[in-house]
Amino acid sequence: MLNLQLGIRYSVGKHAQILRDLKPSDFDPREKFWTRFPPEGSKITPPHQSSDFRWKDYCPVVFRHLRELFQVDPADYMLAICGNDALRELSSPGKSGSFFYLTQDDRFMIKTVKKSEVKVLIRMLSSYFQHVCRYENSLVTKFFGVHCVKPIGGSKTRFIVMGNLFCSEYRIHRRFDLKGSSHGRTTNKPEDEIDETTTLKDLDLNYVFRLQRNWFQEFINQIDRDCEFLEAEKIMDYSLLVGLHFRDDSNYDKMGLSPFLLRSGKKDSFQNEKFMRGCRFLEAELQDMDRVLSGRKPLIRLGANMPARAERMARRSDFDQYTPGGFSHLTPSRSGEIYEVVLYFGVIDILQDYDISKKLEHAYKSLQADPSSISAVDPKLYSKRFRDFIGRIFIEDR
Ligand code: ATP
Repeated sequence: MLNLQLGIRYSVGKHAQILRDLKPSDFDPREKFWTRFPPEGSKITPPHQSSDFRWKDYCPVVFRHLRELFQVDPADYMLAICGNDALRELSSPGKSGSFFYLTQDDRFMIKTVKKSEVKVLIRMLSSYFQHVCRYENSLVTKFFGVHCVKPIGGSKTRFIVMGNLFCSEYRIHRRFDLKGSSHGRTTNKPEDEIDETTTLKDLDLNYVFRLQRNWFQEFINQIDRDCEFLEAEKIMDYSLLVGLHFRDDSNYDKMGLSPFLLRSGKKDSFQNEKFMRGCRFLEAELQDMDRVLSGRKPLIRLGANMPARAERMARRSDFDQYTPGGFSHLTPSRSGEIYEVVLYFGVIDILQDYDISKKLEHAYKSLQADPSSISAVDPKLYSKRFRDFIGRIFIEDR
């Protein structure tokens, strides 16, 4: 961690002054620079307490421009990562064995990655850059840097710095990592161990999300564009990460939500529920007003701070049988319980391409499960299944 902080301070400091335009050669995969950090310091590096190591920067000028595009101030960036408050290590949320760190201000996330993932990112960097420049609402992960640390005589650790989707004033009560596939897509945790930090998966999903008309259309269009981009880059295995904040969290309990919040859908209680909903809106609006007055009102963007409604569904895994590759059962099991929520979402884990090992994984898993239900399918099919799935779990709120 210390090496990483020393390296980032050096790189950001070095490139902060360079404000020239980008050249095609900046995207060249050979644009990588090694710097040695001896403990006693050198002409260009400070003395430090860690062991002798080398530091590698990949396409630094491009990432300098990306940080600017994503409105990350160099001083804030350096302070968040290299300040005295150490980075927080998260208990590894993924299967891949990657380590995750969060900066104290929650804005940036650092993930250790494989060599193949760095290769994929550098390979697609130019089209990624064009894509995020063209679509400011793009939901694909925001990348701020790619680096490598190699202690002398030790092995390399590669990592990326990216935006934390859940950097929010609001508490995230539930999080879902959704791929649109079903094979193995559950947390496998008993209900009483599931809490706000658990990343739930497709089979655990028990909501559909209702978005206001304009947002809904913008979302579907943007997902189409993002998936087209990923498909063209032969990327697969990505997820839609969704975070939910329940606006009335005062009665929120561990198992789910308080009955106070529920709208039962029965006709005779409709007036009462309408009144309760009015109260909830009022309360939420007052809270928002507080935020406006104190200058803390978060900006609504596609995928960040989005007001929406979440309708409770039966969990996919509550069904013994499932439709291969599909989630069509969601509709009949609607419960009519609706919650006012604030949503956060984005497309993460976009550095897996469909290489030979994925083809083998697909072939192997196909022997055990329905081929359309497993995660490793070719990028075209993956994107289609992903979009179809999103089209079922996000609906327009009328
Ligand atoms: P797997 O192999 O299980 O797909 P992985 O190790 O490749 O996982 P990711 O899929 O990138 O890792 O992320 C694992 C989890 O880390 C996500 O489900 C999410 O909870 C969290 N996470 C990853 N990226 C972000 C991000 N940009 N913002 C917030 N949380 C994130």
